Amino acid sequence: MLVNTKALVLKSIPFKESDLIVTLFTQKFGKINVLVKGAKKMKSKLSYSVQMFTFGDYLLYKKNNNLPILRQGDVDLTFKNHSFDLGVLSAAYYICEFVNFFMLENEHNQKLFRLTEKTMRMLTTHKEKSKTILATFKIKAMALMGYSPYLTGCVLCGEKNENYIFSVPQGGLVCESCLPYKNKFISKRHRLLMLFVLRTTFEEILNTEVKDSEVKYLNKVLNKYIQFYSDGHIFKSEQIFQKL
Ligand SMILES: [Zn+2]
Repeated sequence: MLVNTKALVLKSIPFKESDLIVTLFTQKFGKINVLVKGAKKMKSKLSYSVQMFTFGDYLLYKKNNNLPILRQGDVDLTFKNHSFDLGVLSAAYYICEFVNFFMLENEHNQKLFRLTEKTMRMLTTHKEKSKTILATFKIKAMALMGYSPYLTGCVLCGEKNENYIFSVPQGGLVCESCLPYKNKFISKRHRLLMLFVLRTTFEEILNTEVKDSEVKYLNKVLNKYIQFYSDGHIFKSEQIFQKL
């Protein structure tokens, strides 16, 4: 049976002499592996459409429980004009690693698919804001997978308070009276910024003046948060990012 779907190429590994097994995050079937025959041969049209970070429309041949075979790929979005832009590329790489890590094979998440597509498009059009875009993806993606940080009061007592810490293991804000020890409070500005990024659209976030130091703070806290909920997994792309 031939089926078509929009998809993002997450990764590929060589298979046999000239084939590839490509992992796609598809709109219709979630995360799947597909076989790309002859992709390593010169002049293969398919090889262009299965490069990492590529977004496109893909035609697959599916039969029973066999690995689907890629028949055609029409590229919609690539990063070929950003080959020298390490900020953009490492952000795109992070998103692919993140989706590949958190999504199980054949698992669907339409909202995460839409967020991923949007994030990739934003990266190609707002390259100077790649770190803001990445922080936005991190918090929104965690929320879509059921790990939304609680930011509108104390996660333990529910009270609204003046001073909070941001507690990764508790999953959000913890107020002064619930803390058994003194710790550094999160500033009101950082707290409201995190809530703003969680709730607001990409367009609004990118039109808002956010300081570099604030974006750095967001990424740092969200990395710790994601690391905790991924059982300590460290994304390779994150290490690249820290060196930039
Ligand atoms: Zn409390």
